[in-house]
Amino acid sequence: MEQPRRVAVITAHPDDSEFGAAGTIAKLVQEGAEVAYVIVTNGNKGSGDRAMTSERLVRIRQDEQRAAARTLGVERVHFLGYEDGEVEDTRELRRDVSREIRRWRPDLVICQSPNRTYNLGFSHRDHRIVGGVVLDCVYPLFRDHLAFPELLPEFEPHKVREIYVMQWENPQLVVDISDVMDLKLKALACHASQFGDFAALDARVRERGAALGRAHGYAYAEAFDRIEMLR
Ligand SMILES: [Zn+2]
Repeated sequence: MEQPRRVAVITAHPDDSEFGAAGTIAKLVQEGAEVAYVIVTNGNKGSGDRAMTSERLVRIRQDEQRAAARTLGVERVHFLGYEDGEVEDTRELRRDVSREIRRWRPDLVICQSPNRTYNLGFSHRDHRIVGGVVLDCVYPLFRDHLAFPELLPEFEPHKVREIYVMQWENPQLVVDISDVMDLKLKALACHASQFGDFAALDARVRERGAALGRAHGYAYAEAFDRIEMLR
């Protein structure tokens, strides 16, 4: 498989890309890929602070996400602005995701799993819905010109070469991120509104990365299912 030159990472919330794939993203950037993020929700519910308002939180989380992306060398961050916790599989969302993919024209798409798994805190509903929508958009919706005719002529159909689905139960692809683990943690640290105790998070992320890498002899790893698209 050739190195991907353009990569789109499409997730439900600010911070999802860093938790699931920051090491892999950092490595792709170091290998010369141009990476774009598409974040479906505005993350406006992710706070335990009773004095926090949704409006303030949206701005804080967008700034945090942009800082995390800069840390990893991600070129572009686009927010679709859907309500946190209320994502549904609608035509509007499928069209919006298709449009962003057609705009960026990636070889590789990284997304979340559409399945409920029990090692991801039971999997957030937004993650499952966004994961399913992204896969539906890769095939067939952003390949076919008759899907979403309103996107033409500005956003021409596009074929993605492969997909990495963030997934930690019997993953097909285990990426060695030992060299970039510190960068992953630095990017995660940008999401300061999301944790009180970064030392505890640091330890948890290292523990999980180590567990994923163990069977392969890697100090730290991230894991995915990998789908190669027929051409
Ligand atoms: Zn999330």
